[in-house]
Amino acid sequence: MYFNAVLAIVHSTMYLTAELNMSPRKIDPKPCACGCGGMAKTGEYMPGHDQKLRAAIEREVGGLANLRSIVEQHIGHTISSTGKRERITHPVPRTVDMSSVDMDSKIKWKVTENPKKSESLAWGRFEKYYGAKTVQDYIDRGGVKPDLKYDWERGFLEVITGDV
Ligand SMILES: [Zn+2]
Repeated sequence: MYFNAVLAIVHSTMYLTAELNMSPRKIDPKPCACGCGGMAKTGEYMPGHDQKLRAAIEREVGGLANLRSIVEQHIGHTISSTGKRERITHPVPRTVDMSSVDMDSKIKWKVTENPKKSESLAWGRFEKYYGAKTVQDYIDRGGVKPDLKYDWERGFLEVITGDV
């Protein structure tokens, strides 16, 4: 008797599940994951907004290759389309645009200690220019433009250019 009752419940549950699966998908709008404030009727994004977000991210970091470098540094191994992985021991440099840098450009520091090889000339210069607030300040303290490019490419600092 008890067994039959359980069987009946199982059967009705199966029937209900099958019926739910056949009914048209319930429309349950969610806020679009791109952050536009619109509602996505299906999935996470409004139509095309995932592509817009991807384009905005690439624009921000200077392209897909730079985006890859940033992600690789974060996860600690390389990413390739073939799936081949290699551990990253040194930060992967990214390409930076020096053309819009001028003496008044501000510097935002991303490291809290000297990342250069100790005792090297670069280490010594870093000790002097570390903390500089502008490019002018950086140069005045003994830094040179190639240092600035190198440091920026490796993420030791960020140069804030006027066009952002
Ligand atoms: Zn959106």
